[in-house]
Order: sequence, then structure tokens, then C-alpha cells
Amino acid sequence: MKQTSCRSFDAAIIGSGFAGSILAGILSRHGMRVALIDVARHPRFAIGESSTPIADMLLRRLGERYAMSELVALSTWGFWQQSHPELAGGRKRGFTYFQHHADEPFSEQRVGENSLWVAASKSDDVADTHWYRPDVDQFLFQLAVDAGATDLSGHVVESIEQPTGQTTRLQCSRSDATHPDAITLNADWLIDASGQSGVLARMRGCQDQVAELKTKSFASFAHFRGVRRMSDWLETRGIESSIPFDADDAAQHHLLSNGWMWMLRMNNGITSVGMTSPAPVSLDWSSYPTICDLMSDAVPVEPPGVVSTGRRLQRYFDPVVGDRQLMLPTAALTLDPLHSTGIAHALAGVDRVARIVMEANDSARSEQLKAYRVSFRQEVQLLDRLVATAYATMSDFPCFTIACMLYFAAAIRCEERYQQGEDPEALWNADDAEFVRLVDWASQELMDVRKRGSSLDQRLREQLKPWNSAGLMDPAVHNRYAYTAATK
Ligand SMILES: Cc1cc2nc3c(=O)[nH]c(=O)nc-3n(C[C@H](O)[C@H](O)[C@H](O)COP(=O)(O)OP(=O)(O)OC[C@H]3O[C@@H](n4cnc5c(N)ncnc54)[C@H](O)[C@@H]3O)c2cc1C
Repeated sequence: MKQTSCRSFDAAIIGSGFAGSILAGILSRHGMRVALIDVARHPRFAIGESSTPIADMLLRRLGERYAMSELVALSTWGFWQQSHPELAGGRKRGFTYFQHHADEPFSEQRVGENSLWVAASKSDDVADTHWYRPDVDQFLFQLAVDAGATDLSGHVVESIEQPTGQTTRLQCSRSDATHPDAITLNADWLIDASGQSGVLARMRGCQDQVAELKTKSFASFAHFRGVRRMSDWLETRGIESSIPFDADDAAQHHLLSNGWMWMLRMNNGITSVGMTSPAPVSLDWSSYPTICDLMSDAVPVEPPGVVSTGRRLQRYFDPVVGDRQLMLPTAALTLDPLHSTGIAHALAGVDRVARIVMEANDSARSEQLKAYRVSFRQEVQLLDRLVATAYATMSDFPCFTIACMLYFAAAIRCEERYQQGEDPEALWNADDAEFVRLVDWASQELMDVRKRGSSLDQRLREQLKPWNSAGLMDPAVHNRYAYTAATK
């Protein structure tokens, strides 16, 4: 017989991925009663693994601000290896890009002709990381439970109602159909951390604003064992492979005629491999001899099999659903894996939402929600512009490189602002109107094939000067950027 119990919480969080779990940990340590609901149980497969300097900086700040030293420990490769070697992950010194042509092995006549290396950290010790999400998410989930969050793993949300102005009522049932018990939760706050599921927006019938986005892409991905190293492949052919860092200690991008592939190497033998394309895509590299070599012994091992999204990746919702019903940025938006922005966006959202919830200041709330909405919107618009421009230029490597430089300028300026003690309203310098205007202008020039004249790089280099402390777009370095990282 079905039994229903009823419990009250200060906050109910839907989704115990890393973002929901960190938020649950913060609120629980603050003394709040938190329900952490997830349809799945840890450990479980998750995609979205490559962190960045901004993401690591935000992780460190969350750890310091909310006295969670465990987060600080995961914020650099060196510290992670000392503190939690049991959690699988990968060393990430930066970003590498290789332009391939169908039926030809990768090659270049001169350094940087078809490749780009952008360092994000100056040494292995302070390097960024790839997160092996089954391990990392489970670890962060356990932190939340240890801090007092109520574990409602294996539960699915059946309905969301708001019978009074303040309280949200959730009906949840066990996702294991053989178990009949149901639970009713009353919560002062409801936070959607369900990632791509966007449970709150979907159940409340919110409007998807995806038509506003220029980026349009589809993905196919899996975790593989046995992926060969690109640095070995390059070395055996006498192509420079490790300056300024090893090509595989990176978010590795392979540009193809119909999109791009990522390879993210973990220290447990797993490599995350995926492909993203403007049209529905299957994970097929058969026309690219170099990728065939890298993948010749590779076997997909999880989730099981290869995932193909089938439908457009992008979703875009207003993150403020109600006065006390909020979505984290990664629940309100899925954009694209290019530029690896999801982890940083989620972490910034955790901080913003934690502050709104913990302050619980009824008179200031409408201003706080407005600020949350504005910064999110600024970020989405800038990222969408940057990513769509990169896709539009993908078959023209010099122009694609320029499009990437815009992203790196945005990211580096954002890091610098944090390091100078600022608390920017938006990530990626999206709250700097002059910078946004520059990106809009450059994007228009790059998107229009007729305007991509040879002087575009010179004109952009000139215009970028106020934000270009890292020496981006310097022809003398031949696409090998060794020192872009703001120091950690
Ligand atoms: C193909 C792809 C590649 C990506 N690569 C990168 C990358 O390299 N770097 C990067 O920074 N970002 C990347 N991202 C983005 C990244 O995946 C997300 O930013 C990140 O996973 C968000 O984490 P999260 O904790 O918010 O949500 P998730 O990790 O998605 O966790 C959501 C949780 O909610 C649970 N859930 C879902 N539905 C329900 C439901 N109905 N009821 C209860 N629980 C539910 C799930 O089981 C899950 O545990 C990528 C995204 C995609 C699609």
C-alpha cells in the first residue's frame, strides 16, 4: 500500500550534481534544513568535465567564503593530488586545437598553421583539472549529506505547487517503481539544480527562450578506454607536441568539417570523447586518419554506449521562476561545450543563490532577483555570441583562432578582475559594456565571410588593447600562448 509522509525544509534542491550538492552543503552548514532530491544515485555518469581558471577560482572562493576547505582542495591539480588522490581526474594545462581535413592526416607546414595551444596555468602544480564526474559529484554529494542535508536520492518530483506565497509543496515518489512510498515536502525555497532536465521550468510550464540564441548544435559522446595520446602521435611524426605544454594535458579540440571533437584525458584510463556539430551527429571520425589512429584501440565503457542527444542542445529559461523559486544557471541554460563554460557558470550561480537564500531579506529580494537575472542574461548573450562566432569560423582556422582569442580575452579579464579584489556582476567580462560592444563588432566582421579581410586581425588587435594584458593575437608567438594565465 502506498504510504505518504510529509516533511518541512528551509530549502529543497532538485539535482545532486556538483552544483546542487555544493549548494546543499553550504546551506546545511549555515544551519538550514535542506532536502537534496535526485532521480539517480551516486556514483552516476555525468558529462561536462573540463574546468577552467575561472571555475577553479570560483571553487576556491566558495571554499573560503563558506569554510569548505574540501572545495579549495579540488581547485588546482597539485592540491587535488595531495588531498584527494582517490578521486579520478585529469591535469589540464590549457586548451589545444587541431584543424583536420577529411582523408588527410593532420599536418602543418609551419608551427601554428593548423594548431593552437593556449596555456591556462603556468605549471602542473597550479594546473586546472578535468573532473571525473562520477567520483567528484559523489564526493561533493557526500559532503552535503555529512553537513546535514537530507538524502532523497532515487526520488522523482511528481508535482510542484505553491499553496501559500511562501511555501512550495513538492510531491516526490521513488524513482524505483517497485517502491510505492511517496513523500510530500514543504519548503521555503525551491532551487532547481537539475542541469539539462530543467525540472522547475518544465513543470511550471515556463517559456523556453531558445529562439534568442544563435548557437545551434547537437552532441554525441561517451567515456572511452584506450585512446592514444595526440602528443605521441605528433612526436612520432616530428611535429612539435609539447610546447608550451603537453598536448594531452588539455581540453583537446579537433576541428572537423562538420563540427569538432573533444578529448579529455583522466588519470584512471578514461578519456571523455565527444563530438558537437551544427546538425544531428553520431560519433564518427572515420574520415579523419589521425583521429582513427588515436581511436584505433579505443572502446566506449560508459554511460554504457555512446549518447547522441538527437535534439538541439540549447535551452534557455529565465532563472527566476518565482520569489523563492530559482534555477541555477546550468538548469536555466544549456549552451555548448565549446569554451568549457558550464562548470564556472554553475559555481557562480551557487554563490549568487546561496547569498540570496541565506540573507533571506524580504525587502531587498526583488533587487537581488533582478541582479541575478541581469547578470545571467548578460553572460548568456556574450557566451552565445562568442560560441556562435567560433562555429561560424570553424572551417577557416585563422578566423577561428581570432574567435577563440575573443573568448580568452573575456576569460582572462574576468580572472584579473577577481584577482584585483573586484566582485564582477557577470562572468567573462559580460558586464563591461565597451568590451561587449567590441565582441559584437568583431563577431559581425567574422561572421560575414566578405569582411574577413587580411587586416581584420590587425584591426582587432588594436581594438582589443585595453583588455589584452596577456598578449593575445601576437603573430610572433605562432599560436603558442604560454603565459595567458592570470597568476594563481
Ligand atoms: C555535451 C556536453 C559537454 C559539456 N562539457 C563541459 C565542459 O567540458 N566543461 C564545462 O565546464 N561544462 C561542460 N558542459 C556543461 C556541464 O555539463 C554542466 O555545466 C554541468 O553538468 C552542470 O552541473 P549541474 O550540477 O548543474 O547539473 P548536472 O550535472 O546535470 O546534475 C543534475 C542532476 O539532476 C538530476 N536530475 C535530473 N533530472 C531530475 C529530476 N527530474 N528529478 C530529480 N533529479 C533530477 C540528475 O540525475 C543529476 O544528478 C557540457 C555540457 C554538455 C551537454
